[in-house]
Amino acid sequence: MKDFSQIASAVQVSSTMAIDALSKQMMADGIDVVGFGAGEPDFNTPEHIKAAANRAIADNNTRYTPASGTAALKEAVCRRMKEDCGLDYTPSQVVVSSGAKHCVYLALRALVNPGDEVVLPAPFWVSYLEMIKMAGAKPVIVTAGEGSGFKMTAEQLEAAVTPNTKALIINNPCNPTGMVYSREELDAIARVCVDKDIYVISDEIYYGLMYDGRQFVSIAALDSEVRERTILINGVSKSYAMTGWRIGYLLASEKIAKVLSNFVSNSTGSPCTISQEAAVAALNGPQGCVEEMCQAFEKRRNYIVERMNRMDGVSCIQPEGAFYVMMNMEKLVGRTIHGQLIQTADDFCAALLKYGLVAAVPGGGFGAPGFVRWSYATSMDNIKKGMDRLEEFLNS
Ligand code: PMP
Ligand code: GLU
Repeated sequence: MKDFSQIASAVQVSSTMAIDALSKQMMADGIDVVGFGAGEPDFNTPEHIKAAANRAIADNNTRYTPASGTAALKEAVCRRMKEDCGLDYTPSQVVVSSGAKHCVYLALRALVNPGDEVVLPAPFWVSYLEMIKMAGAKPVIVTAGEGSGFKMTAEQLEAAVTPNTKALIINNPCNPTGMVYSREELDAIARVCVDKDIYVISDEIYYGLMYDGRQFVSIAALDSEVRERTILINGVSKSYAMTGWRIGYLLASEKIAKVLSNFVSNSTGSPCTISQEAAVAALNGPQGCVEEMCQAFEKRRNYIVERMNRMDGVSCIQPEGAFYVMMNMEKLVGRTIHGQLIQTADDFCAALLKYGLVAAVPGGGFGAPGFVRWSYATSMDNIKKGMDRLEEFLNS
């Protein structure tokens, strides 16, 4: 038989999804693993959101909707973006799809042609790299180290730009680092994008989860020049504990929204009708649930950061948002733990899972080889147990 598609065959499994599947399988097999793998809130979806979905089913609101989402949901998205981020968008600039992950892919499909370059600051969320390649473009990775708070500078961006650069993907607050760009940092990056005529794909799905009283600034809120070249990505998965409902959305110029509406009308079709009703309730309903979950995440962050920085051989900088922390394990390189020589974060995570019964994601897939990502979107009891096990593992 002839070969499969080269693009599809080259796609790597998502390491976050893979670790999550592995630790869930171990738990199902009766092994007492503590999972810090996938970034998925442990909270249940709030009751008023579930009630809206139940109502949709009872009312037979179960048929196709417009391919790019219902008018009610697009209006709810615009209202929330205005209230939370000061952004003025109209429903014709919104495309709803089956998760923010798919929206990133759509954004790339809207913008890139084969051979175009897309700048990707590292550490990056694993799926961006694969999606850039899936869209036929070339990733240009710009590494932002721990010393700069894992944040790319405008100078680094400028140095990476070539005549083939089409877009920048920026993730703020960032998965996997939890770091947040300030208005000044964003402004400097935005100026380069405007000067060099580069589109911005800004994934802001964690904007509701910021700590220490920090105020979120959306890159699209800086000025109209930046906004017109930005595709904003957002969704309900993280802030409303709705990962399984699969609703994400993007906001862009009307022209881009039109291109993508046509695109989805021939590919995915409309997003789940019941989930769209639930998302309307999430965005229009009381927002206290977001604040409550955010406060719980902040307490967990404080605990995990404090514990990690007291352990021998590992350290981390304090994340400012999202629910991830990057643990630096470079000092462990060359050490033997439980008879296993640790040379990479992969070695470390494999040994930690096998002997410590703790699942965390090695940094390689995020473009951060000497690091391990821990998601603290899990209960405080699990976090305490996991930190005790990590400590014991490191001391063994
Ligand atoms: N962007 C980032 C940065 C994420 O961490 C995730 C988590 N999966 C997503 C997008 C996708 O979210 P969704 O569940 O809406 O597809
Ligand atoms: N975004 C989460 C993570 O990074 C969920 C898994 C995924 O979609 O990759 O772990």
